[in-house]
Amino acid sequence: MYLKLSVFLRRYYYRIEVNLENKFICPLPWVSLSIGVNNKRRLCCHETRDNIEMTPHELEEVKSLMRQGAIPLACKKCAALEANEILSPRHQYSQDYRNHSQMQYLDLVLNNDCNLECLMCSPAYSVRLNTIYRETSPIEVMPSWSIDYNELNNYDLSGVTDINIIGGEPLLSKDAFLFLENFLKNYSLKKLRIISNFTKLPDRWKSIFDRVEKLELIASIDATEKLYEFIRYPANFEVVKNNIAKLRSWDLRNLHLYQHVVLMNLNFPYMKEILHFYDEFFSTPENRLPVLVEISSPQILHPRVLTDGQWLKAKKDALEVLEDFERKYGIRQEFKDFRSLITKMEQMNLGHFYIDYQIYLQKIKKYHS
Ligand code: SF4
Repeated sequence: MYLKLSVFLRRYYYRIEVNLENKFICPLPWVSLSIGVNNKRRLCCHETRDNIEMTPHELEEVKSLMRQGAIPLACKKCAALEANEILSPRHQYSQDYRNHSQMQYLDLVLNNDCNLECLMCSPAYSVRLNTIYRETSPIEVMPSWSIDYNELNNYDLSGVTDINIIGGEPLLSKDAFLFLENFLKNYSLKKLRIISNFTKLPDRWKSIFDRVEKLELIASIDATEKLYEFIRYPANFEVVKNNIAKLRSWDLRNLHLYQHVVLMNLNFPYMKEILHFYDEFFSTPENRLPVLVEISSPQILHPRVLTDGQWLKAKKDALEVLEDFERKYGIRQEFKDFRSLITKMEQMNLGHFYIDYQIYLQKIKKYHS
């Protein structure tokens, strides 16, 4: 392992001594422009802090720490995955961007205009959640906000080859569509990645999808049937499946379609259903599992809030499906990563949230009815 020796906290950053031949260098601080919630610049979509502006000075400090062989605190999530021998986003970006000389990657959170009220989301990403948040906890109301497209055009975008878009719900955003249409009039795109709930698929998007070299569409589907509809209220599971079928009927040669699952206490006991749904509906020779991501907040929805008995049963079921898949497809990296993620989650102990979680569930059920 390349991470070694002791860790000590120094103002904003963890400093971890590393084998200098394998420094914790990530290309993103050099090659990306990432705009997050409330139109604030951030390091990247995986960074630890949320809704806090990253100043140019802090960005330079991140670069300097990486050059010295230290891990910036903002990169704690990637570091934690790597410490558990799980491939992190940093590994992928390091493969994608070997030349660090100019901005190549735009990573945009568009607005908080969404048609859903997903349980693991927040008003910063869906203004509709203000209602549910008022029901469950007394927080300040989050206003509608949107990215400033004019400000974006102040940057030199001529080197940009890849764009990543999340919302709100991007496929509902006319502004996002127009921004991409204008961008594609001036430049070409090697990769467009959009994370969508696929509850809507307006026909106009086909003209954008047709014009990029590689199209990565990531469908946020965290469960199946009624559980899906409970988590992603008020979505309809059949409508989402029909939209995926509609997308496939467009016969896009550049399409790479993924399913994204946030692992929570609500869905972890149902991994059997979720993984079999993936196997039937999304599985490709490249990916035999959905993109499985441990929930980072709210902690009340973490799988380790389950009782020990529930956790052990859910873990056993998930591992049994993995064993079936290994018999069917052989040993694969994504299977190893999922096992490592289960081991990582097992080390946590969040049982003290269990009562709060049950109260929260009752309030949500009442709200939905
Ligand atoms: S190491 Fe991870 S958190 Fe840090 S900039 Fe790279 S992708 Fe983002």
